[in-house]
Amino acid sequence: MDHFLYRDGILHAEDVPLPEIAAAVGTPFYVYSTATLERHFRLFDEALGDTPHLVCFAIKSLSNLAVLKVLAGLGAGMDVVSGGEYLRAKAAGVPGDRIVFSGVGKTRAEIRLALEGGIRQFNVESEPELLAISEIASAMGVTAPIAIRVNPDVDAHTHEKIATGKSENKFGIPIARAHIVYALAAKLPGIAVKGVDVHIGSQLTELAPFEAAFLKVRTLTQALRADGHAIERLDLGGGLGIPYTRSNDAPPLPVEYVGVIKATLGDLGCEIEIEPGRLISGNAGLLVSSVIYLKEGEGRKFLILDAAMNDLVRPSMYGAWHDIVPVVEPAPGTPLAPCDVVGPVCETGDTFAKARALVPLAAGDLVAFRSAGAYGAVMASEYNSRPLVPEVLVHGDQFAVIRARPSFEEMLSRDTIPEWL
Ligand SMILES: *Cc1c(COP(=O)(O)O)cnc(C)c1O
Repeated sequence: MDHFLYRDGILHAEDVPLPEIAAAVGTPFYVYSTATLERHFRLFDEALGDTPHLVCFAIKSLSNLAVLKVLAGLGAGMDVVSGGEYLRAKAAGVPGDRIVFSGVGKTRAEIRLALEGGIRQFNVESEPELLAISEIASAMGVTAPIAIRVNPDVDAHTHEKIATGKSENKFGIPIARAHIVYALAAKLPGIAVKGVDVHIGSQLTELAPFEAAFLKVRTLTQALRADGHAIERLDLGGGLGIPYTRSNDAPPLPVEYVGVIKATLGDLGCEIEIEPGRLISGNAGLLVSSVIYLKEGEGRKFLILDAAMNDLVRPSMYGAWHDIVPVVEPAPGTPLAPCDVVGPVCETGDTFAKARALVPLAAGDLVAFRSAGAYGAVMASEYNSRPLVPEVLVHGDQFAVIRARPSFEEMLSRDTIPEWL
């Protein structure tokens, strides 16, 4: 469920008509709904209820400071994967003891940054990383809380580029070898073992892979405890999928996902950490764009928009589907015609949809890409020297630009021409 609905024939973000935002900031732009962000966070938080838990928003899905501030205000923790994300979490007011640090390639500088600013735990992905953390923490005279990310070798049944829990993926330590790495961690100075971490992939639309992974975590936790390790926390990662279109079978609900957590791990007496990204931010955002031209091709029609693959890369990178809807609600029964929806970038890959059934649209009309909040703005680039599109946050009948579109001057000023040229 989201808060982008037609009212009086115009698509609104909460109580704000989208044409009003378009007039104020120009197109294309991203717009996020505070109410949807809050609702989705609460679905997890309330489902976990009395179970000791922390819902850590995966910042990589949508990292604007204003969005982080909304979630921090609800008590969210944050899952970060870089020093930059760590600093974003801190800048949004999240205390270090609510930040978990994931990722296969944490640099020494990033490890130091997090130890200086405070960290709930590092999710350690390799032995060399464990040794580096031990060395840095010891030198600083502090103790680094850690969980070890295990790779359970479970097929998440998702797009190969976002599956992370198979043995051939770069993530985590093979679960069969975990006991060796925990034994090493227990002996190392500057390391405090807190728990076990797992994250098997993104946009999962079934519960079975989660259940399989969590059962393996259960067995491992019992074995580690028998070896004398105090396992107090289980970080179960993120990955629950969202409906990208209304015609699809809907993925499981957060309450059903949490049901699997409780059924598989609820009796272990561990604090549960989860790291949802897409489910919180995905349907909380739209990308709004204008039609530039309609072009008649050889046996096909092209709808050329002012948004492009550099603004929303998911369709060209993952072949992802986004519903594309007109901002002015079409009259019921308006006939649909197939259209290729493309951007202005000079690559054939700059295609949002092929033969998409759309109502007739004209130059200047506004369209909205639904479910664009996650992995949208954060993956944008300035390819073709197109300035990053602005981000807008709506709250009831108010809206604010939370990241302005850079001017061409700002974009150009980041380059320097050496004096010898
Ligand atoms: C990407 C990622 C997440 C969030 O995944 P979603 O599919 O957006 O929920 C959580 N944890 C880790 C370690 C990740 O890499």
